[in-house]
Amino acid sequence: MNKGDTTSVTGTEKGTLFVVSAPSGAGKTTLCRKAIEYFDGISFSVSYTTRSSRKAEIDGIDYHFIDEGMFQDMINRGEFLEWAEVHHKLYGTSRKDVTALIDRGYDVIMDIDVQGARQVKKRLPGAVYIFILPPSLEACEERLRKRGKDSNTDIAMRVNVAKSEIKDLELYDFIIINDNLASAFETLKSIIIAKRSERKRMFGKVKRLFPDIFTGDLY
Ligand code: 5GP
Repeated sequence: MNKGDTTSVTGTEKGTLFVVSAPSGAGKTTLCRKAIEYFDGISFSVSYTTRSSRKAEIDGIDYHFIDEGMFQDMINRGEFLEWAEVHHKLYGTSRKDVTALIDRGYDVIMDIDVQGARQVKKRLPGAVYIFILPPSLEACEERLRKRGKDSNTDIAMRVNVAKSEIKDLELYDFIIINDNLASAFETLKSIIIAKRSERKRMFGKVKRLFPDIFTGDLY
């Protein structure tokens, strides 16, 4: 069920967690937002961060902006599914927020860095890992300059982090090279639709369509 295809969230199966990572400037945020707009039944996991909000960012929508003390309290209470220091600031995902959505049959997109993805892989089986690559490091740097949100020092640091993140590709199931937004989005859509069409995900719906044939549990 979405504004453009036929796969659906049935309300009985658990949703899928899509973990999306990319170097800054690869276009990850745009692609994730497009997926949320395009599909029904898919939600964005709003992270907690100690970095300050940028122009046009809204607390509770883009991030939950909190101070270091509050972040540390959340760590101590074990509330994070994963957390990491990225570009000298802390970022984390609330375990409760994500599992509540997944349990209700929603798919969730998490836009997190490689360190976070590694932690999720250990703690939550069944997630799908997608890495978005810029066509080149130069393109990445140019995108960061064009968006005008970061200082020159920040940009240089982000490009350096990008170089080391790209080496961690083996953690991921799918790679999307974002040299063209439209075709990169087609690829992301295909991955989501394919995961939604898996037998284990479709079984509840199949059972409802063919109640006389399928009486037992998932097989
Ligand atoms: P930005 O400050 O540009 O919004 O994000 C910087 C980096 O932090 C991005 O690579 C983004 O994926 C990552 N990030 C955002 N939220 C989280 C999170 O909850 N956990 C982790 N590990 N990384 C995050």
